[in-house]
Amino acid sequence: MLDALRRIVQEVNAAHNLDEALSLIVERVKSAMHADVCSVYMTDYSRGEHVLMATDGLPPRVVGQVRLKLGQGLTGLAASRAEPVNVENAPEHPAFSPVAAIDETPFHGFLGVPIIRRRKNLGVLIVQQRLRRKFTVQEESFLVTLAAQLASSISQAEIRQSLDRLDRDALAVTLFLEGVTSAKGLGLGEAVVVFPVAELESVPDKQVADREMEVARFRLAVAAELKEIRRLSKRMQRLLSPGDRALFDAYALLLSSDSLVTGALNRIRAGNWAPGALRATIEEYANVFEEMDDPYLQGRAADIRDLGMRLLKRLLQGEQRREGQHYPERTILMGEEIGVSQFLEVPPEKLAGLVSIHGTGASHVALLARGLGIPAVFGVTNLPLSRLNGREVVVDGYTARVCIQPSPTLRQEYLKLVEEEAELSRGLQELRHLPAITPDGHRLELHANAGLFADVAAARDNGAEGIGLYRSELQFCLRDRFPSEEEQAATYMRVLQAMAPHPVMLRTLDIGGDKPLPYFPIEEQNPFLGWRGIRVSLDQPDIFKTQLRAMLRAGSACPNLGILFPMITCVSELAEALELLRQAHAELLEDGVPAVLPRVGLMVEVPATIYQIDTLIRKVDYVSIGSNDLTQYLLAVDRNNDRVAKLYDGLHPAVLQAIQYIVTRVHLAGREVSVCGEMAGDPAAALLLLAMGVDKLSMSLGNLLKIKWMIRTIPLARAQELLTEVMHFENAGPIRERLNSVLDEYGLGGLIRIGK
Ligand code: PEP
Ligand code: MG
Repeated sequence: MLDALRRIVQEVNAAHNLDEALSLIVERVKSAMHADVCSVYMTDYSRGEHVLMATDGLPPRVVGQVRLKLGQGLTGLAASRAEPVNVENAPEHPAFSPVAAIDETPFHGFLGVPIIRRRKNLGVLIVQQRLRRKFTVQEESFLVTLAAQLASSISQAEIRQSLDRLDRDALAVTLFLEGVTSAKGLGLGEAVVVFPVAELESVPDKQVADREMEVARFRLAVAAELKEIRRLSKRMQRLLSPGDRALFDAYALLLSSDSLVTGALNRIRAGNWAPGALRATIEEYANVFEEMDDPYLQGRAADIRDLGMRLLKRLLQGEQRREGQHYPERTILMGEEIGVSQFLEVPPEKLAGLVSIHGTGASHVALLARGLGIPAVFGVTNLPLSRLNGREVVVDGYTARVCIQPSPTLRQEYLKLVEEEAELSRGLQELRHLPAITPDGHRLELHANAGLFADVAAARDNGAEGIGLYRSELQFCLRDRFPSEEEQAATYMRVLQAMAPHPVMLRTLDIGGDKPLPYFPIEEQNPFLGWRGIRVSLDQPDIFKTQLRAMLRAGSACPNLGILFPMITCVSELAEALELLRQAHAELLEDGVPAVLPRVGLMVEVPATIYQIDTLIRKVDYVSIGSNDLTQYLLAVDRNNDRVAKLYDGLHPAVLQAIQYIVTRVHLAGREVSVCGEMAGDPAAALLLLAMGVDKLSMSLGNLLKIKWMIRTIPLARAQELLTEVMHFENAGPIRERLNSVLDEYGLGGLIRIGK
């Protein structure tokens, strides 16, 4: 059964559209379960119906004709109860509802299981038997397991089919996809799909103008590859046995075979570019082999894909040489995962948005995007990448939605919003050099988070009163090795000088979690609970001390330096980090560098530190609350996992209580407390942080003036009243609603969209 399950899922995943996927499902399930009928109903919410979409066993003419009201019959029962319905004699069941278009009297045994994805019913998978028969527990769990696995394939296929329709009737269908907000804002532009050269399956389709030239390009690549393989085979003659060299012969044979090459050429002649045609052809052949029963032949699929990769690399090298990448005026960069280098390749003035299947708001690209004010939606699991290049796309980083090919009305609507947003930003410019002070005279400092030199310069020019969090690891990520002490010192010096006399809090390396360095891989099952932040630094004192010395060197010339330790979990870690800092300082003095010990801060990110804050605070000058990680660890919600993204909310009463407690205790100790996670830039949350008495907020620069506007509009006394009120609420949702209503009341409705 397990084998049957794996095969069915594999085949369905390779289907080209929903119809093909569903036909495959019914055929394969019917045979695997030795049933007389297998059918799939899909739920059409717009009409409130379950529609028969595929069947093996009932007359094909009824497909699309049989429509059941939601909740109707045994099918409706399985969907509404969200559980399997397993009945020995269906016509006798009280919920049985005969359907006029089909004569179901000959069928008795009935098993229907709902297909559910993310709490939503997509349809029902049904098997029927002529004989009276209750399906066994094993059969039931087989179908349940299959339905769960198929749920994601089906919605994927569904989207592909919508796109097929989109192709035929360009303006008729708009596709909405959901992801996780990674950088707020709105962007409208043209999709440019990027893909790692290492992955054939993510190569998009693209139309070519000169098909014959593309044909010639493909032929050249094949000829060159054939030559290379023959050369390799010859070179290996002395080293490999003829058996081992057979692979080269197989490759050479495939490259000379008509089927493979002609298949790709036909696709190119139909208008696709060579890499897209290659991907489709290789997939087709690899699938044929994968479906074979003989394990040896199945294994050949991998060879075919490998050969495809070789050809792809050749084609793409040629591509880059030919023209370099062309970016439209308003580029929406899309990909399976967008790399930092792909991001940096697009001229910033042309980049209007980012969308990807993987990645989240905590990825480096997201941090870069936020710093530069570019909207991003990541975690769009259903993104049909190969079909999107060149399409018009709206990236809505406020609602985490991506709209592909918006209708003219929607387009107008979005353009209006983009314009409103630009107007809001222009209007806010006049606040740049005004202090963040409430109408009743309470002063708060607003700092920016940074990690690249570009965001530091922008922060200075936009009225940030300091850099509250400098994510030093970004510099490490942009390299292919650890930077030396001198290189680091030069970078830090540049940052400190650019912001002087305003303070800059350089955070020591915070790698691990979702931020591995390409040249220092950390492979763990549970990376967020693993070797990250200060834990790495303390275990690698060589790397840590180099960084501390570089920071102190920079600080010796610029007194605006502060140092911040991330991910502290226990007192001994802080003590060790401080000891290494003292050692680094002493060594520099010995070397004749006039280093001074800077202000040192501790990040509160791990719940354990809440309960030891009284002890910890005595050892440092200030505390910075990293609300991103604190929320993740308090709520046990992976901040990068789109499945649980709805649960991730800094307005959760437990997070608010934790922050309020820390603020009180830190102030009692006479120290300063700031918040540098994303909550600081969320107007609703910032209103509460203001009321709690947080001294500084440090945020993505894009939100700074908006938060300043809020602070200059709402009196502290009102914020405090609100805080007292919402601290009695039980859930995050009503808290946000209440705060938004107050923002609205003060004419700050324009800010609401930038909240969670
Ligand atoms: C945080 O965790 O809130 C924080 C500011 O650090 P980072 O987002 O870089 O983990
Ligand atoms: Mg953190």
